[in-house]
Amino acid sequence: MRGTKILATVGPASIAVPTLKAMLLAGANGFRLNYSHGSPSEHQQWLERIRRVARAHDEPVAIVGDLQGPKIRIGDLTAPRLVLADRGELTLDERPAPGTAQRIPVSLRGIDRYGQAGDPILLGDGSIELRVKRVVAGGLETEIVHGGLLTPHAGLYLPRARLRATVLGAKDRLDLHDAVTGGVDYIAVSFVRSAGDLRKVRREIDRLRPPRGAFSPVGLIAKIERAEALANIDEILDEADAIMVARGDLGIEVPLERLALEQKGLVRKANAAGKTVIVATQMLLSMVSSPRPTRAEATDVANAVLDGADAVMLSEESAVGQFPAESVAWLDRITRATEPSLEASRFDFDPDPSLPPEAHVAGSAVELAARTRSVAIATPTHSGKTARLVSRLRPPVPIWAFTTSEEVRRRLALAWGVRSYRSPIHQPLLDARELAVRVARAQGLGRGTLVLTAGYPLEGRPTNLVTLVELGPERAASGRRARAAPAARRGAGAGAAPR
Ligand code: PGA
Ligand code: MN
Repeated sequence: MRGTKILATVGPASIAVPTLKAMLLAGANGFRLNYSHGSPSEHQQWLERIRRVARAHDEPVAIVGDLQGPKIRIGDLTAPRLVLADRGELTLDERPAPGTAQRIPVSLRGIDRYGQAGDPILLGDGSIELRVKRVVAGGLETEIVHGGLLTPHAGLYLPRARLRATVLGAKDRLDLHDAVTGGVDYIAVSFVRSAGDLRKVRREIDRLRPPRGAFSPVGLIAKIERAEALANIDEILDEADAIMVARGDLGIEVPLERLALEQKGLVRKANAAGKTVIVATQMLLSMVSSPRPTRAEATDVANAVLDGADAVMLSEESAVGQFPAESVAWLDRITRATEPSLEASRFDFDPDPSLPPEAHVAGSAVELAARTRSVAIATPTHSGKTARLVSRLRPPVPIWAFTTSEEVRRRLALAWGVRSYRSPIHQPLLDARELAVRVARAQGLGRGTLVLTAGYPLEGRPTNLVTLVELGPERAASGRRARAAPAARRGAGAGAAPR
């Protein structure tokens, strides 16, 4: 089993059903709908197709609806690619007409208020640089300092203009409505500055779909792509279910040479907080047009795994590239090859008395599984919380989460090392144990031990119990479980669960 999860952005290149299927079979655990691109009817169609393919394969697949947020983008262009030459001139304005190499439309009302002569403007990933020459009514005339290839809807960044824009603009509200009523599993919030931004989105989600029980069925992913979010990361982690290290925009907002260190810091903090962390953008960028990644990309993916990422993400590679399924397959290969080198001790956080008791129970389960070389850690989980607390410690064995809720299963699809199984409602402990043994047998794991951690006396209680279950050969007759012979229990390779 692979522990690191794979999230793939869908787009024109991947939305045909056979391609989605190929990506799922290659190992995709979740799909991202990027609301910066495509129309509402396309988004609806994408959602339905992903669900259809996931159902056909009986896989719990997480769908992430990624809101555009206050990102300024250029509009349509007359060509799929425009060449901007160094030292040329380019006007940015508000007219929607498709852009040319002389003028391009920008989605920012009152653009003439956001620039002054001499201000830098960056386009796309920041490689194209303009400088404002003159402010005119409804536009900015600029000089091209560094040219390059411009694609439609590329991002536009005004480093000098601090936009007060909200994370939930008019378009975002419409997209959020479609996403939540369409049944996405996560909402990704772009350009988050603070926990308050997330609370605002959460309130809107809860209004659209009142939460049942103790948890909101839609998870919130805070995209960390602004310097302010780095400063407020602790409160953001408190409020979010997951964060995304959104290196595309973050790499413009912080000096590029610091990006690797910011990534490591963010991943470490998310791991410590027990929140899912996704590392995103340009992971295999060259695979947009090449069937193999570069050395640097393969190394970057491996380093994200070693940093402690729960999930790695594809953007253009799967949305508009020529090799969407191959890109997933490469993430699968690289993460699998790297994971055996994850040092368990790195995730052995200091016993922190402020943690809830369940976190310490999870720690005991992981330690017991490691010492006994168990084949897995099984846990009935109501909201997914116990499974996450175990996952946070990156145990050297698979985590089997048993839950009644398909929504919880789909959300756990992005959590490191967790594989989920359906279980009946209000499962008594003995039934959970029975289910764990059945899952083990179905995987051909007929010997050794597994660790079960659960709420005693009934599932639904906070997780408070850890027990060792012996996997013996199946007995035909009554419920009495056979005892494994001592040799079998210590059997070589029992702990070397595939992952
Ligand atoms: P985006 O977010 O692809 O929606 O811009 C990810 C990033 O900025 O890295
Ligand atoms: Mn971004």
